[in-house]
Amino acid sequence: MNNNIKKLWQLINESENIVFFGGAGTSTESGIPDFRSATGLYSTKYENIPPEEILSYNFMMTNQDLFFEYITKYLIHPDAEPNTCHNTLVELEKEGKLKAVITQNIDNLHQKAGSKNVLELHGTVYKNYCYQCGKKYTLEEVLARESESKPTPICDECNSFIRPDVVLYGESLNSTTIIETEKVLHDADLLIVGGTSLTVYPAAAFIRYFKGQNLVIINKTETPYNNEAVLVINESLGAAFNMKHR
Ligand code: ZN
Repeated sequence: MNNNIKKLWQLINESENIVFFGGAGTSTESGIPDFRSATGLYSTKYENIPPEEILSYNFMMTNQDLFFEYITKYLIHPDAEPNTCHNTLVELEKEGKLKAVITQNIDNLHQKAGSKNVLELHGTVYKNYCYQCGKKYTLEEVLARESESKPTPICDECNSFIRPDVVLYGESLNSTTIIETEKVLHDADLLIVGGTSLTVYPAAAFIRYFKGQNLVIINKTETPYNNEAVLVINESLGAAFNMKHR
């Protein structure tokens, strides 16, 4: 086994308060495309509009059908299954070593794998609510209301539209999630950052709240925090974060 992976597992075994901070790379091995790589979602325009524009608050308010068409087509993956990384995190949480998973993903795969303390910085497509009256809807209920001719899901109570509980461009992160994220990072002794290039702000700025000794980065490409890490592993998460290396 590669020495870096051996070192990773030594650190995990010696630590008592681990936090995992993950990005799109956590889910690519489950078949969910990432955003920013060469083949990622953001490399392809939709109806000649850049995805960053579609996934904005203004666009949702002004081009609803196209907004929902895009979300359903590209951001909802009901058949995706958790992978090795998700499953390893579940085991470490059960052992009491892992205190929280902080994720930039909106795909619910950590919960599907069985993780309990998951902080979703960008929300989740699995929760939805009416823009007007706030009535809550599950993803299944939303999908049942959508059709090809009418992609925008409509609330039964007030006829407004039902929006996903995700943080769009132009919106702020949830304040309760921010506070909890800062707290778990502050208390951690080992922070493992995986599958993210740490270039998306404000999410990436949270790394500053970590005060522990051991920052580990597992990512195929370089990140701005590499020189602060005690260990950098340029491999897939599935390869590194596998219990069989323990
Ligand atoms: Zn409503």
